[in-house]
Amino acid sequence: MTDRIPFIRPSFPDPSDVSRAYEQIVEANWFTNFGPCERRLGLAMGEMLGEDVHVATFANGTLALVGALSVVLGRGDHSQYVLVPAFTFAAGPQALLWAGYRPAFVDIDRESWQPDVASARAIVEADPDGCAGILLANTLGTGNPTVDAWEEFATERGLPLVIDSAAGFGSAYTSTRAVGVAGTCEVFSMHATKPFGVGEGGAVVTHDPALVERLEQFQNFGFGPGRDSTMLGINAKLSELSAAIGLLQLERLSSRLDGRRATLAAYVRAMGPAGMTVLPNSHRAALGCGSFRAGSADHRAAVMRSLSAADVEARNYYNPPVHRHRYFAEQHALSAQDALPETEALCDEVVSLPIHDDMAADDVERVIEAVVSCR
Ligand SMILES: *Cc1c(COP(=O)(O)O)cnc(C)c1O
Repeated sequence: MTDRIPFIRPSFPDPSDVSRAYEQIVEANWFTNFGPCERRLGLAMGEMLGEDVHVATFANGTLALVGALSVVLGRGDHSQYVLVPAFTFAAGPQALLWAGYRPAFVDIDRESWQPDVASARAIVEADPDGCAGILLANTLGTGNPTVDAWEEFATERGLPLVIDSAAGFGSAYTSTRAVGVAGTCEVFSMHATKPFGVGEGGAVVTHDPALVERLEQFQNFGFGPGRDSTMLGINAKLSELSAAIGLLQLERLSSRLDGRRATLAAYVRAMGPAGMTVLPNSHRAALGCGSFRAGSADHRAAVMRSLSAADVEARNYYNPPVHRHRYFAEQHALSAQDALPETEALCDEVVSLPIHDDMAADDVERVIEAVVSCR
């Protein structure tokens, strides 16, 4: 009998460290509303990204997306569309509906698995006035190595570029550019299942300090100075205890990510020759999981059966793609010419493998064995 290998095993700070942080919060008698821990966390996250960036923390990643879209694009009346990949988590397309826009789903590029700028260009050329902006996503938190092509497209068209990098805090686009510094702003989640997790939390990162100020008004009932509502807002503030956990998580992040990347490297070495292709740029990613493409739908089915028999919990993210979720299929059905062939093809073949901090060598070997046995 072996133990089941879970898909995700969150790694949180030692309870004694959290307890000390909580004592200080009680001592300060300041539990939320931009307290000292929240202020420190925003600064520390910005410093880690290394360029001149500013951070607005949020209660979760989805509210951070709603805030970023509402403030950057302005609230819509559902007459305009926003470009968004279907190969992403449902929160992005849902957030843009909350902000008052319709999704226009773009396909992905076969090689990079990232949103394809040519697909976006075709949509905008057919209806230039209907487009309000772009909600790009870094696929599975992995930095799009050609994000600059999107930045050029956005500039050329005068479109705001919001990037959903939810699972990707700690990822990089290239050896010199961190995920977090591209576009108009980037959005992160600190959900417990993400590599940088606090429980529930989120953040928006931008070069524009005035945008951070607006985002902080948005998340605090739209209050400007003097508790005067100056805009439509909501309550989406990060609590002090969550921020304190975030500060402790930040200290451990880079060594934790090293462990995850070592596991990915072992997977790639063994699985590449067995017909499994890794998501490009994964070696620079924060790695909530290991994302691979099997050679065919049958190959994927065999791999999933083999993993299950070996008591390894695996997934296939993001299958189904968002345009096939029931609500979106009913409300925002795609016409034949809007088909997303590369998204559909990848969804038939994608395999998501568990990656934890410091995975035991036996566990890594068990995952590899189960996968390579079905080449
Ligand atoms: C996790 C995730 C979100 C949602 O973040 P929450 O903090 O859970 O609200 C949004 N987009 C993507 C791509 C995600 O992976």
